[in-house]
Amino acid sequence: MRLSQYFLPLLRENPAEAQIVSHRLMLRAGMIRQSSAGIYSWLPLGLRVLKRVEQIVREEQDRSGAQEILMPTIQPAELWRESGRYEDYGKEMLRITDRHDREMLYGPTNEELITAIVRDAIKSYRDLPKNLYHIQWKFRDEVRPRFGVMRGREFLMKDNYSFDLDPQGAKHSYNKMFVAYLRTFARMGLKAIPMRADTGPIGGDLSHEFQILAETGESEVFCDRLWLATDILAEAEELNYDSDLEPFFRHWTSLYAATDEMHRPETCPLPPDQLVSARGIEVGHIFYFGTKYSVPMGAVVAGAGGEEVPLEMGSYGIGVSRLVGALIEANHDDAGIIWPETVAPFRLGLINLRPSDKACRNAADELYAKLRGAGVEVLYDDREESPGAKFAAMDLIGLPDQLILGPRGLAAGTIEWKRRRTGARHELPLETAVAKFAATQREAR
Ligand code: ATP
Ligand code: MG
Repeated sequence: MRLSQYFLPLLRENPAEAQIVSHRLMLRAGMIRQSSAGIYSWLPLGLRVLKRVEQIVREEQDRSGAQEILMPTIQPAELWRESGRYEDYGKEMLRITDRHDREMLYGPTNEELITAIVRDAIKSYRDLPKNLYHIQWKFRDEVRPRFGVMRGREFLMKDNYSFDLDPQGAKHSYNKMFVAYLRTFARMGLKAIPMRADTGPIGGDLSHEFQILAETGESEVFCDRLWLATDILAEAEELNYDSDLEPFFRHWTSLYAATDEMHRPETCPLPPDQLVSARGIEVGHIFYFGTKYSVPMGAVVAGAGGEEVPLEMGSYGIGVSRLVGALIEANHDDAGIIWPETVAPFRLGLINLRPSDKACRNAADELYAKLRGAGVEVLYDDREESPGAKFAAMDLIGLPDQLILGPRGLAAGTIEWKRRRTGARHELPLETAVAKFAATQREAR
């Protein structure tokens, strides 16, 4: 993509409305614009990151055996009356009346809708287990939408729902998601700690939140100091989803980690110097709630002996749009964003320092064409701007690597390569640049 043609409305100044760094940087880097409180448009650069995050989430869901569907954003109130949650949900639910005076709502979550779908389609224990997910916009009329996409009113969530015949099966489904979530966040370069959590309005017995430690987090969390030095993914990588995941689950949940609602200083087993108290960003949440929805909604199957068995269910959410903000909270410096390669909107930035110079322009155009030909996603700054403005823009948007071409290097047959994260600079022979980035692009994606 040529920057001269790209829709990338950068802001020089810090927007006054943004209190935390991810919100500031998303606005400044031209990723999002607010349309009303807690509701955002995603501009080209932001949407590319959102899609990358979504794709990693999707791949890990697929790998776990979950199947993708797409349910609507608008749901009938009727279903929520069946579960009893229509009244309970309160003002967070956006209620809508259509032209025929039918009560509708913009879905804040989908337990009722999926239960109705499965109830009508699945009649026998032979059709179980099932795990269905979708990635869809949700609406919750939060009292205090803030921090940009971190606490929006409209936000993108991956939610899935597991259906099993018995509690053991349901626990296996829960364990699969426990592992899938660890893999998902680790692929984005994030350390998300699974913490014992309250089940809240979803209800149920067993629940974990996945929390990223960050000063700007809205949750108060507590965990064993050992978590800070632990690489849980290395082990999760090895697991086969058909094997017994309970030992893995037991092991990792034995290391203390709890959210504010679940933490009790009196009963906490850790000595005070072993306990970390910190702020966390909740990026995922998993629940096992058994028959809480299947019983009132009549979602039953015929068991092996023909008896009626209510479905055992769990639900699992990942804040896809919140993750974009969380990724920036975890990856930035004073100059701007530093994208991990797996979610970066482009793999590489190419800066032509002197577009008015014919030799520079030809060389940069040629390199750009070759990089694209080799499948490298490159953002090419071909604008007539000062070098300082170009460096600042490239650092702000945070692509993992930059190639900087100027008259002096060109005369020597070299190009400057800068790593965004470390700031390290190297001279590369011009003719090796394409092969180098073609290889790293393949690794990252
Ligand atoms: P929170 O405690 O942050 O309000 P929640 O517990 O109400 O979140 P869940 O129902 O568990 O949220 O939703 C699943 C995931 O969706 C959360 O883990 C979070 O990552 C994301 N999420 C929830 N509410 C919002 C929001 N208002 N804006 C952006 N993402 C959200
Ligand atoms: Mg939650």
